[in-house]
Amino acid sequence: MADKQITVTSPLLPNLDEFNAMLKEIWASKWITNNGQFHQQLEKALAEYLKVPYISLFTNGTLPLLTALQALRITGEVITTPYSFVATTHSIWWNGCRPVFVDIEEETCGIDPEKIEAAITPKTTAIMPVSCYGKPCKMNEIQAIADKYGLKVIHDAAHAFGVEVNGESWVSKGDLISLSFHATKVYNTLEGGAMVMHDEATKKRVDFLKNFGFAGETEVVAPGINSKMDEVRAAYGLLNLKQVDEAIKKRHQVAIKYREALRNVPGIRFFDDMPDVRHNYSYFPIFINAEEFGMTRDELYFKMRADGILGRRYFYPLISTFSTYRSLPSAGAENLPVATKVANEVICLPMHHELTDADIERVLNHIVNR
Ligand SMILES: *Cc1c(COP(=O)(O)O)cnc(C)c1O
Repeated sequence: MADKQITVTSPLLPNLDEFNAMLKEIWASKWITNNGQFHQQLEKALAEYLKVPYISLFTNGTLPLLTALQALRITGEVITTPYSFVATTHSIWWNGCRPVFVDIEEETCGIDPEKIEAAITPKTTAIMPVSCYGKPCKMNEIQAIADKYGLKVIHDAAHAFGVEVNGESWVSKGDLISLSFHATKVYNTLEGGAMVMHDEATKKRVDFLKNFGFAGETEVVAPGINSKMDEVRAAYGLLNLKQVDEAIKKRHQVAIKYREALRNVPGIRFFDDMPDVRHNYSYFPIFINAEEFGMTRDELYFKMRADGILGRRYFYPLISTFSTYRSLPSAGAENLPVATKVANEVICLPMHHELTDADIERVLNHIVNR
């Protein structure tokens, strides 16, 4: 029966000796936060790696979302997806704005651009799409609608680290882009995150906002917050950046093996690579058609769990069903039929850089050789 547990993810950890050497430097300098040398180095290294003009580090991936809405002075209603991690919608709520849920499309699990216009009102000021599982959402269509109605686009790219489309950075798409470096993500700084922006003036303003609004020793220019990344995590992030490509390669190998085995299993749907996209293989969601597969999603989920295989039902339940949001007019299942269906079909299989062939076989056994 259950030997070792196979978790849905496993954090990418830097070499401990190299990390210790950097900690010694931090101790020697006694500069532990407030834009220290490693913070500066990591911003530079990430801007290069991600091929983006400007980036600002944050202490997690929720605060850049909150701060993006502040930086763009978003008010009123924000159109967003219910099929995401709850922080996406919370950031709208924390800004005193009203989230308006629009259904997703099955093809990308991102917001369905064809359903956005019907949700726009005179109070709408922004759209907050998510590139779910790191799959590029329909950004061109979303941006065209935003341009037509004068809306801002805040892209929650928490899953999309390193994703490129036609050689272009996907985390440069949108007016402001938010990234998460949480332990469960492809690239982590323990906790951490970042905001990507397109010009120096915005970078400056965001840097003020993440440090209480301080523009100088005695000058406060905005009601800012404290969401700065410290030196310890910046050092850790520099080390992890050196090995993230290798980790993504290993994830790719896992995806290839899953796909090979699952391709002809009736009732199981999964994503193939998209043309001209550099994927990051951050998640491996499968979608279960209970009738064709002969077992419901939850039956499979709990059967795997009993054997120590800890997949996750990302994203179930939908954000729109949580107590804070369920009374919103846009939150009903009848407004969100695709998201509701997908949320009831999905399991994210274990996906990380340390999975062995034996692990993969154990996972697949539950699905292929039932
Ligand atoms: C992880 C995640 C966040 C929040 O990031 P934290 O670093 O955990 O604060 C926001 N949005 C999405 C889609 C996420 O997956």
